[in-house]
Amino acid sequence: TFCFPDRAPLPRNMIENSMFEEEPDVVDLAKDPRIHPLESDEIEYEPRSSRLLVRGLGEHDLDEDEEDYESSARLLGMSFMNRSSSLRNSASSYGRSSDGSCALPSVRTLCLGAFVMGIIVSVVMVIYFLPKCTFAKGGCHKENQTMEQVYPIATDGRVFPWAGVRLPSSVTPLHYELVLHPNLITMNFSGFVQMTITVNQDTNKIVLHSSGLKIEGAAITLAARNHLVQVLEYPTHNQIAVLVPETLVKGQNCVLMINYTASLSDSYSGFYKSSYKTKTGETRWLAATQFEPVAARTAFPCFDEPDFKATFLIKINREKHHKALSNMPKNVSTPIENGLVQDEFCVSVKMSTYLVAFIVGELQNISKDANGTLVSVYAVPEKQDQIQYALEATVKLLEFYEKYFKINYPLQKLDLVAVPDFQAGAMENWGLITFTETTLLYDNETSSLLDKQIVTIVIAHELAHQWFGNLVTMKWWNDLWLNEGFATFMEYTSIAKTFPDLQASEDDDKFLYTRLKAMAKDSLNSSHPISAKVETSEQVEEMFDSISYEKGASLLLMLKTLLSEDVFQKGTIDYLKTYSYGNTKSDDLWESMNKIKDKKLDVKELMKTWTHQKGCPLVTVTNKGKQIQLRQERYLRSFSSGSSTSDTRQGAHYYLDPFCMSLWILIEKKFVRISTFYSQLDTIEVADEVVWIKFNLNMNGYYIVDYGEDGWAKLINLLKTNHTILSEKDRAGLINNIFALASLGRVTLKQALDLVQYLVTENCTAPVVEALSQLDSIIKMVEKRELLNLAKAMKDFIYSILQRGLKLHLFTEEISPKEITGINALLGLMNIYSVQVCFVPFLQLDSTVLRTFLFGSLPTDLMKTVFSVGALTSDGWKFLLDMYTRASSATEKMKILEALASTYDVRKLIWLMQESLQENSIKTQDLPYIIITASKNLGPHLCAWNFVQENWEKLVQKFHLGSFTIQNIITKTTSHFSTRNRLREVQSFFDSLKDKGSQLRIVQEAIETIQLNIQWMDRNLGTLQEWLRNRTGLS
Ligand SMILES: [Zn+2]
Repeated sequence: TFCFPDRAPLPRNMIENSMFEEEPDVVDLAKDPRIHPLESDEIEYEPRSSRLLVRGLGEHDLDEDEEDYESSARLLGMSFMNRSSSLRNSASSYGRSSDGSCALPSVRTLCLGAFVMGIIVSVVMVIYFLPKCTFAKGGCHKENQTMEQVYPIATDGRVFPWAGVRLPSSVTPLHYELVLHPNLITMNFSGFVQMTITVNQDTNKIVLHSSGLKIEGAAITLAARNHLVQVLEYPTHNQIAVLVPETLVKGQNCVLMINYTASLSDSYSGFYKSSYKTKTGETRWLAATQFEPVAARTAFPCFDEPDFKATFLIKINREKHHKALSNMPKNVSTPIENGLVQDEFCVSVKMSTYLVAFIVGELQNISKDANGTLVSVYAVPEKQDQIQYALEATVKLLEFYEKYFKINYPLQKLDLVAVPDFQAGAMENWGLITFTETTLLYDNETSSLLDKQIVTIVIAHELAHQWFGNLVTMKWWNDLWLNEGFATFMEYTSIAKTFPDLQASEDDDKFLYTRLKAMAKDSLNSSHPISAKVETSEQVEEMFDSISYEKGASLLLMLKTLLSEDVFQKGTIDYLKTYSYGNTKSDDLWESMNKIKDKKLDVKELMKTWTHQKGCPLVTVTNKGKQIQLRQERYLRSFSSGSSTSDTRQGAHYYLDPFCMSLWILIEKKFVRISTFYSQLDTIEVADEVVWIKFNLNMNGYYIVDYGEDGWAKLINLLKTNHTILSEKDRAGLINNIFALASLGRVTLKQALDLVQYLVTENCTAPVVEALSQLDSIIKMVEKRELLNLAKAMKDFIYSILQRGLKLHLFTEEISPKEITGINALLGLMNIYSVQVCFVPFLQLDSTVLRTFLFGSLPTDLMKTVFSVGALTSDGWKFLLDMYTRASSATEKMKILEALASTYDVRKLIWLMQESLQENSIKTQDLPYIIITASKNLGPHLCAWNFVQENWEKLVQKFHLGSFTIQNIITKTTSHFSTRNRLREVQSFFDSLKDKGSQLRIVQEAIETIQLNIQWMDRNLGTLQEWLRNRTGLS
């Protein structure tokens, strides 16, 4: 999967780095109407009085929908009292009965409770007196079968014969034959699945996954005899159990058949419906799938764990005017009853259930041959003019991967489909990759260079999965990083070779930002080891985070730097060849690397320390003469005590040390690059006296470095006098590290601010973007405490150090992706300030720039910033809304929508969010972007946070608990808070959710982040004020 929070290239800090940010105890806008953040003639902003006015608007406009009115009213600062009761109502603790109704009457509840207790007691006693595993036949693959695994009760009140969340290993599926008929008028589908199963251990039950399916009947074929069988359901674990009339014997094969019906899903997972409007305004429907990680079970009963690989024969009944697509090429089409047509697809290769896919609808395509594989790109008919670029890019990348992995793409065809409604960025279903429209479609007129970069990166990612993930799959979701870390890593490798102009190779900045982003998240106590224990569906969903993707890719880069490009590639090929069509653990990859490289280094031992522990190392360097002393500990931002770095639980032997591979020192004015691998981390002795020292060449290692008071002073001096002596990435790395250390209190904020002043002479983007990322976090926090003068002083400071670079890059004829990223980061941070201070002088000074503005040859990447400025006035906003309705390119629409959402007028914002939540003129898939954009602005940020609280149930229904989208919404709406009141509010909201959110790791992260923000403000606000005061005094 390709998950990304912000489609447009926002500065990294806005995406992830939530260190500081936002607002005081006094800032509750609903409570204090006097505080007004911005001049009223520029911005429409609604303090309390207007909020009430909005309530009036709610009554007037929305009175047909009681609930909408109520949520709007609450959103506007009204009572939150009713929320918990509504939560309670829907959180019935009973499973659904077969007709879908919930909530049993209380007398029955009591009886059932007593009955359940009775069963529990007897089962506990029975288990106690029986030898281990008697009940858990085949279930002992899960260690620790403990007393708590008492069998649960199925929906019909009988005992469900399996207690584990994971399936038993007593049987294995070999082959599925699946017939599906999605009805795009009734929005239901019916299915028939026939599974060939082999028996590994004697058993009299078959336990498999099924969720939300209405089982109509089931039968089993044993020794050529058919038996009708009973099916028990246990919805809590998404499991069904088939009770077999006679014991299945080890080595025997049987065929299980199940008939079922279900509704096409309203969310973005499972077998779901999607719609789009034709040019003439008609709504058209299609049905598509998104199964990763745990939704195949919502489309057909199956063994929905990645290591139950099997072959699939899929048949789809469809209307004549529709097209059906699946993983494999179509074998035959047959007319069947009711004027329908049945498409039968070829039998698939052996694969995991989460990679199965099918789509039915009116899609059109263009195709091209790539080394014997037919590559096709599909989109809705209206967007046929936007698929050409994707086809060319895919062909080129596919050929690259076949060469790189030395394994041909194993299927005859590869389809890429832009699905109008899609939650993630893309999904790597084998042979049928699905995308959201913004990540596949490229419109020559409205798409920008960065849009092209994103399309190419996402295709590169998904194609890498066809090998890494599809051909070789992780055994279980704890090793998801093998899939996602590797695919993320390969984006850079493949693009470097295929599309160097896009500047998304390992040598470019993008990968650097990836590493820094991962380290920021990993520095929290709520982080997790890259290979983490997971069991439940939510835990599985939660694995799709920055750690699996970005930390995974960062560790692979570090390993590659250590082993060399050649060894790394050979090890990868060995791994893919050895485990083709199989499943693996992390260790298998390391074993393959071990086979290739020389014997001295044990990759497995080395990498274990990085994959089994959470966090990233902090290395402290002290230098005396020729001696360099190194000490390592965990880089942990902790709020509990003053000294906040050591992870004492883990001891001092925290990490092994591949980081010495990139040691630069300057000895008597010449560089010595030491790239030896040190097995012990203590003291290095070099031949000559060290003048200054810089570790972690190009930030290729996953760790930060503290050079001590003296060491930092030397480096700051070096940057100010001769910064180009260090690489661009090293400069960015120093900026990152010093701010990280400032947040720990290891260096002062003053030192960090002192360092970034060298940027006056900086021409490269990476250091600028990194500095902006750090400073933006601080500005956000300051701004939302309504310290507006202070925020303005910071922006003045930033402008003063960066204006030269801005003039250098802005509005040049040929602007590179790197430069655009830099400019967007700057303009995004400056926001309104950018209009007043940055743009206006340009407009006055330079008539060509003025022309650029007026006649619209503005680089399309800057469109969003310009639109955002336009959206600040009422007329401008209306104009943009109209433009949004008419725009046909998804990327253009997204840019306009983000501009619309950056309004300070909360009435408009609420309208946008409601419109999107109800899937009216704005797609619900875009709601997260509205919420996230609004969260950046003072005032609207509270509106967005309230909206999330009020509509939590709906958001979770649509986007799934634990999903990347939900994680992102939580992070972006709360990471700005820096006061104790907000901390309490956030805590109590999530506490009130109970099993509908309080247990999420991201919630712990959000709370930890606010605690850290509070601590940061307590420690540094005074310093910051003083530093800026002195600076202004001087200038
Ligand atoms: Zn992926």
